[in-house]
Amino acid sequence: MIVVCMSQYFLPSGMRYATLEEREQFYSREFNLQKVAEWFRGGFGNIKFAVIIGRHTKIYPEKYKQDASTTIIVDEYKNIEDARQQILEFLPEAVYYDRNVYDKKNNKICQELAFDLDPENITCPIHGSLADKMKRKQGLSFCEIEFDMVKKEATGLHELLADRFSDLKVVYSGRGFHLHVFDQEAYRLSISERFNLAKQAKQAGFHIDDWVTSGEFRLIRLPYSLNGLVSRIAWPLREDELKSFDAAHDKRCLPKFLDKEATF
Ligand SMILES: [Zn+2]
Repeated sequence: MIVVCMSQYFLPSGMRYATLEEREQFYSREFNLQKVAEWFRGGFGNIKFAVIIGRHTKIYPEKYKQDASTTIIVDEYKNIEDARQQILEFLPEAVYYDRNVYDKKNNKICQELAFDLDPENITCPIHGSLADKMKRKQGLSFCEIEFDMVKKEATGLHELLADRFSDLKVVYSGRGFHLHVFDQEAYRLSISERFNLAKQAKQAGFHIDDWVTSGEFRLIRLPYSLNGLVSRIAWPLREDELKSFDAAHDKRCLPKFLDKEATF
């Protein structure tokens, strides 16, 4: 039996922190590099990755204690396999990529547009608002009710964005959902246009993170990576799968190390 100390957090049943051994197992045997490459549509070479080793979980290899909470950029790799080896070296709780698109001289050219919907931002009939949760130091906690509400928001936000954009992807992030916009027009939006889009989405009632949409926070979780806070694989979903999507049981999102657990 695995005992994980997480008294600060409440999570839907079956979700828990992944151990270092489990992260190791995932990134050495399960992490699907083929799918990661497909996500970047052949434009893989210039992608900057980032890892956070143990900021929230406080689970990290002893030698990286000093850097456990640091965002470490992984941008010098020979190929995708080499990038995986570097991720394996850190055994991070989270892997991200930089949405900025850079030229060969490392100048930012433009940026992928994305929306981040997280369940903790939802006001829950049981657990209250984000402020209530923060007061109890449960800012990253969420429950099934909040997850269901955020799932409905993902569907609604997809609908709203589909009025203007045509190349949209929804990703289950382990906690909430990310909407990625791959239309060329979206890459070229200015920061103020992005802020306006964020404002419109918020006015329409969606609980998004402005910093992600405006682009000031440029990192976003890497699809197919392991979310070490909940032991779920971030997975792209079709819009029509959202309604029936069950994060507790959907096999695509369950890392193999959970196979032995019959807790849910
Ligand atoms: Zn709740």
